[in-house]
Amino acid sequence: VLEHGMPERSVVTTCAYCGVGCSFKAEVKGDEVLRMVPYKGGEANHGHSCVKGRFAYGYATHRDRILKPMIRERISDPWREVSWEEAISHAASEFRRIQYQYGRASIGGITSSRCTNEETYLVQKLVRQGFGNNNVDTCARVCHSPTGYGLGQAYGTSAGTQDFDSVEESDVIVVIGANPTDAHPVFGSRMKKRIREGARLIVIDPRRTDLVKSPHIRADYHLALRPGTNVAMLTAIAHVIVTEGLVNEQFVRERCEWDAFQDWAEFVADEANSPEAIADYIGVPAEDIRGAARLYATGGNGAIYYGLGVTEHSQGSTSVMAIANLAMATGNIGRRGVGVNPLRGQNNVQGSCDMGSFPHELPGYRHISGDATRAIFEELWGVKLDNEPGLRIPNMLDAAVDGTFKGIYVQGEDILQSDPDTHHVAAGLAAMECVVVQDLFLNETANYAHVFLPGSTFMEKDGTFTNAERRINRVRKVMEPKARYADWEATQELARALGFDWNYTHPSQIMDEIAATTPSFANVSYELLEKMGSVQWPCNDSAPEGTPIMHLDGFVRGKGKFIRTEYVATDEKTGPRFPLLLTTGRILSQYNVGAQTRRTDNVVWHDEDRLEIHPHDAEHRGIRNGDWVRVASRAGETTLRALITDRVSPGVVYTTFHHPLTQANVVTTDYSDWATNCPEYKVTAVQIMPSNGP
Ligand code: SF4
Repeated sequence: VLEHGMPERSVVTTCAYCGVGCSFKAEVKGDEVLRMVPYKGGEANHGHSCVKGRFAYGYATHRDRILKPMIRERISDPWREVSWEEAISHAASEFRRIQYQYGRASIGGITSSRCTNEETYLVQKLVRQGFGNNNVDTCARVCHSPTGYGLGQAYGTSAGTQDFDSVEESDVIVVIGANPTDAHPVFGSRMKKRIREGARLIVIDPRRTDLVKSPHIRADYHLALRPGTNVAMLTAIAHVIVTEGLVNEQFVRERCEWDAFQDWAEFVADEANSPEAIADYIGVPAEDIRGAARLYATGGNGAIYYGLGVTEHSQGSTSVMAIANLAMATGNIGRRGVGVNPLRGQNNVQGSCDMGSFPHELPGYRHISGDATRAIFEELWGVKLDNEPGLRIPNMLDAAVDGTFKGIYVQGEDILQSDPDTHHVAAGLAAMECVVVQDLFLNETANYAHVFLPGSTFMEKDGTFTNAERRINRVRKVMEPKARYADWEATQELARALGFDWNYTHPSQIMDEIAATTPSFANVSYELLEKMGSVQWPCNDSAPEGTPIMHLDGFVRGKGKFIRTEYVATDEKTGPRFPLLLTTGRILSQYNVGAQTRRTDNVVWHDEDRLEIHPHDAEHRGIRNGDWVRVASRAGETTLRALITDRVSPGVVYTTFHHPLTQANVVTTDYSDWATNCPEYKVTAVQIMPSNGP
């Protein structure tokens, strides 16, 4: 700090990386951020932070940022810098031309989980009001859409049940398909602290994460199941709970639909679902499954935390429902220390889902077919809304390849890099006549764009992010937008160019509109956020100061609903050509595809993504530590360096996906969750062999 001088002011804002949502004080001199100090008053982080968040401001001023709008006629043409007016006018007239030529439903939009709630709300409003259809989707499609579906079915709302503080009262912590010490570091530390204090720990993960075994921490059970068998494992745990008389019958009778419970109990009690019946198949000893089930059901307050290792499967939604069943059966829901908690990956993936970014739901998870809900928005927006769900991202791309979908507005999202089956995404984008990309950097998707609108970082705007515990945190402007507009202002300009009289002068007015239209946000306002610091939804007349713990006296849907969870094996099979299963994850210092973290000074990209291989599989193929390895699947191939480790089991390989050259999605299949189309990123049959390099 001394090197750059003393700060002149400080601004409290929220980290724009992961779903923990840490609060920081940005210390600023002029327009320069000197440092970010973890804010002690932040209710998600209580003054803690991780290595990413402290230096997140670095990418805001990186030379790679694109600060001028650009257009081009064809994607083979060079970009031409233009004024904002010309870029917006060009995008609007192209969208209208396409709709005139191909129909109202031939265009759509994608919201960003990195942008604010207010910005996300505006993009879905633009699509619904301005484009006149429901073709809006979010990157949650490729991560937590099964959470939305599964928890919605069982409990009636699509969000985690607890606040982070609740973990302090947990006696048994179950972590399924998540690696919080790397992906959600500040919360991961709290979890570790609680375990050091004596809480018992069950980890269900194909890989030995740091939680399983690290200094001072050792899991009571590590159920290292074969990738793709979550539902079989969870149903076997349920089998033990039901057949050994461990059900909390009082809770179930009072709080859940009894008939549905009986049906479920009969199903899970079947011998075919016992640990002994499935142990060999999923690769976990039956006695470990029984031990873990008994511990969760009888060990006191049992809290489940899960991540993308649960959702990114062909049965992602089924797994979420299986987890919801376990919590209800044991009465581990509706008080502190228990619950079902999806660990959201991106800073505002919870918010982007809350704000109506799905093609079938208006803000607040209300189905588009509901006449009364539509009427609220129709009256306010002065248009008739389509009552049919629109297209999901994969459907938009399919329709583009088929020639019926021709234009898209993508805000803060790199679908070419983050969505499955890269070749198909590229084909879809290439087939469109107007692709508008709004981002900080020229991302991979922008290679197929006709209009590029500069994005704004979290440092350059006011707004709110909603973290994994439903906490609405304020984002405060630290510096003026480097490219003239904050993202919400650019969307507003586009709406105006399409003929709509949007006149927001501050994001607080957008929040007022959200509150006026969305019952779970009814009492949320910037005034309340200033007063309280942050607030967890639902926040309305029934809960004027928000809701740290959900489902206290009853579920949002009334009675909780048990749902049968039949295990159906993925169509992605191993065989002689592809004998290994590839699964993926993250490391602490990088965030997603690294677009931001690679552009901050502290995080030196000293290493590439590595392929973890069990010593047995490596030796068998003549692969040594550090060798280049070709990874081939039915979909494609990529090349990585080998890391020989027994963190993975024989038959399983693992990599991270932070480096653009890794191209993990070239290898992954196009299988997806049956209910939501969330891609099956976590299971890909591969072969590996020594290589000379990429
Ligand atoms: Fe907190 Fe996550 Fe940001 Fe780290 S990356 S500071 S844990 S919000």
